[in-house]
This record gives sequence, C-alpha cells and structure tokens, in this order.
Amino acid sequence: MTLILTLMSADYIVQVSDRRFSYNIGPPDDEANKMVALICDNARALVGFSGLAQSGSYDTRRWLLATLGECGPPDFTIEGIIERLTARATDEYATNPNIRGLPPTTRTLTMVLAGFHDTGSDNIGFAATVSNCDNFTLHCAEPTFSFKGHRYPEHVRGGISHVLSVGIFPATPAERAPLEAMLLRGAKPKAVAEKAVWFVRKLANKKDAGNLIGRQLMSSIVRRTTPNITSYYHSNTFAMESRGPAIVYVTSDGGFRSSGLRIVGYREDGSQALLHVPPAKGNAPCPCNSGLKYKRCHGIKPKR
Ligand SMILES: [Zn+2]
Repeated sequence: MTLILTLMSADYIVQVSDRRFSYNIGPPDDEANKMVALICDNARALVGFSGLAQSGSYDTRRWLLATLGECGPPDFTIEGIIERLTARATDEYATNPNIRGLPPTTRTLTMVLAGFHDTGSDNIGFAATVSNCDNFTLHCAEPTFSFKGHRYPEHVRGGISHVLSVGIFPATPAERAPLEAMLLRGAKPKAVAEKAVWFVRKLANKKDAGNLIGRQLMSSIVRRTTPNITSYYHSNTFAMESRGPAIVYVTSDGGFRSSGLRIVGYREDGSQALLHVPPAKGNAPCPCNSGLKYKRCHGIKPKR
C-alpha cells in the first residue's frame, strides 16, 4: 500500500509517492522504485500505483513496467494505452494464480496516470485512475478494472488546482486545502513537491498508519510547455543505487523502458529486446533474467 498524491495546476503536474513496498513475508523494502514516467505519441504522464504490491511470483512493479510498453500498439496514444492497460489488468487479476486466490480485501490495485496531452499549441492536462475498487480506502475488489476519470476541464488557463489522493489514509479536504492554495497561487512545482512530501511524511508518522506508508519518497514533475520530466528523491538515508523513476517510452517509431540500469527496447509490435544489461558479480544471476550466472551470459569475457 502506498499513498500517491497527484497535484495538478494548469502548468504542471506533481506526483509524490512513498517507496515502501510490502511483501507478504519479510520486512518491507523502503527503496522500491514505484514511479514510472510514460512517454507516448501524444502525451507525457506520470504513473503511480497503490494496492497489491506482490504475491508469489507476481510483482506489480515488474508487471506494470512490462505491460505499459506492450500497451503501446497499435495507436501509441494515451487514450489507447489506458484502455488496453485496463483490459490487461482485468485479465491479469482474473487469471494469474498468484492473485486469483487472494481474498478480495487484498487483491486491489489502483493506478494513477497524470500528465499532459501534447497537442502542439495547446497542451492539456489530464488525470486518470484505473482501478478495481470503487473506494480507495475500503478494499473491495471488483472483478473488472475500470477507468475512473478525473479529467481536467479543457481549455482552462490558470486557477486550476486539483489534488488527487489515492491509497491508505487519503488526504481529507481540510488537509488538502493548503496544497490547493499553493497550486492556485502558482507556486513553483518544486515547492509544491516539497510541501506534499512533508504532508505524506506527516501521515506516515501517524500511529494508525500501521507502518504501511514509508518515509523515503519520490516526486516527479511534468510541465505543460517543456518536454523534460524532473524527479527528486527525498530521503535521509543514502545508498549507491539508482533513484530515478523507471521510464517507459512507447512511440510509433520505437521505444524503450529503463529501470535502474536495465534498458529494454520495444519493437513495433510491442515485443521486447534487452538493450543494456548492468554489470553484476560473476556468480550472481545475469540481470537479463536468462537464469544463467552473469559470467556465463552477458558477463562472458571476450577472448583475446
Ligand atoms: Zn544475460
């Protein structure tokens, strides 16, 4: 379970999520990279998820990364991708044996996609949730995923603020008010991200938060007029590990996804090919998932 805050103004969208990833056995991972930046033919979006993280060999992060890329064809538009993602999630939750047997209270998943339609002269923000539960706090899995639209009023400039809170302990209207005020007065997106981080940490510290929200956070910013997506990692610990969001780039002229140092390319039909494998220790499993040791696979030393 995660708390995702999506904060939208006319000119930028900020998404903040904590990095705690809970397993059904063992301690939680506080450095899980759950933020995905998605770029397709007509949109740039941030994708966050809350709900079931892992069950048996199913892992929501891996599933989402692979599926977002496969959802590109045939049109590579955000509308098409959201539609196909909804169908794929329904299928996965109906057929995956690791998920099917779970009680309806735990087999819930909500994905939030928020970004800008790149229409050329007049980029328009959007936010969409794809979910199999109606109420994000009361867990009651439905048999199908559906699109629960939260769409910007179109062609509005300035004066928009929308705070979408998904996950455990969603923000109350009173708690959202200061964030909305910042959006309305056109505060810098980084300042909004920092305030949102402060807010999520406050929730994580509540006694009834049940240890389900972590304190290591990620924030990403997508802007209406500039193409780059900016991300910040908010932590009081430091480790030698990649902190950037995973990136899924699916466009009609080819694409890739990267998570840490692993880069996978997409062919036109959505099938995948590994482009870059990060180095590993000789006897460790090869990061390409071949099942071989690194030294017997991508780590083979060239013969002189
Ligand atoms: Zn390999």
